[in-house]
Amino acid sequence: MAAIQTQVLITGANRGLGLEMAQLYAAQPNTNVIACCRTPDTADALTALKDAGAPVTLEALDVLDHNAIKALAERYSETPIDIVISNAGIFGKTQPATTGFQDQQFGRSDFEADWIMPYRVNVIAAMALAEAFASHIEASQQKKLVLISSMVASITNAMGHMFGYAASKAALNMTARNLAVALKPRGIIVNPIHPGYARTDMSGPQAAIEPIEGAEGVVAQIKEMTLEGSGAFLSYDGREMAW
Ligand code: NDP
Repeated sequence: MAAIQTQVLITGANRGLGLEMAQLYAAQPNTNVIACCRTPDTADALTALKDAGAPVTLEALDVLDHNAIKALAERYSETPIDIVISNAGIFGKTQPATTGFQDQQFGRSDFEADWIMPYRVNVIAAMALAEAFASHIEASQQKKLVLISSMVASITNAMGHMFGYAASKAALNMTARNLAVALKPRGIIVNPIHPGYARTDMSGPQAAIEPIEGAEGVVAQIKEMTLEGSGAFLSYDGREMAW
């Protein structure tokens, strides 16, 4: 068996876009996927992938637990990680898939569930992940940090709803820009990427594309990431997104 040359860490890798990306990377040559999820015991698709012989290492990680993020980073302190993908995300109290965007309309704000919790998961956890794993990324060949953002983060194209979720993803984009500047001297490339409006548990069957299309697009964009282009807001389909 050929030696592993590329390590890819993905959060929220048990379903949706995270699972699709884990499967795609596991199929690439000489690549190992560190697939993080809240409950590996119930991560049936990842377990099946691993049992089929795919190079996947399952790790328990709730990204709200910053000590757990640090402990995981400590356990991998001797492992360069080429690509870290902060993918775990929540919409809020309910999913658009089940409510058709009824929640997070003007006048319906549930500030704890629809603002604070998405901010914790979508923004602060991504920052905690970046701080914990920057040295692993720096030590690797590819040196890429990917923050899964959303088109609804685009201030230029504000849609007049999804208030809390959109604000969290806009804050994630600012965090990505700041990280791109702060980490450039260490050679680390940082991009927020919109993964497409995809038919996952979050967005539901009315969304525009299959999750595999979004994941393939994100993986293709990650391949093209350069230090010169660090900080740009990318999209799965190759467009550069308006801020
Ligand atoms: P899903 O709802 O299908 O999956 C969300 C994933 O995030 C699950 O693996 C879930 O784990 C995980 N997660 C949630 N909270 C935590 C936590 N505290 N710790 C660890 N993992 C957690 O969503 P998608 O696959 O659609 O979304 C993936 C990313 O893409 C998100 O960041 C989302 O905002 C973004 N995105 C999605 C779009 C879409 O149309 N689908 C569009 C634009 C952006 P668990 O199974 O344990 O709940």
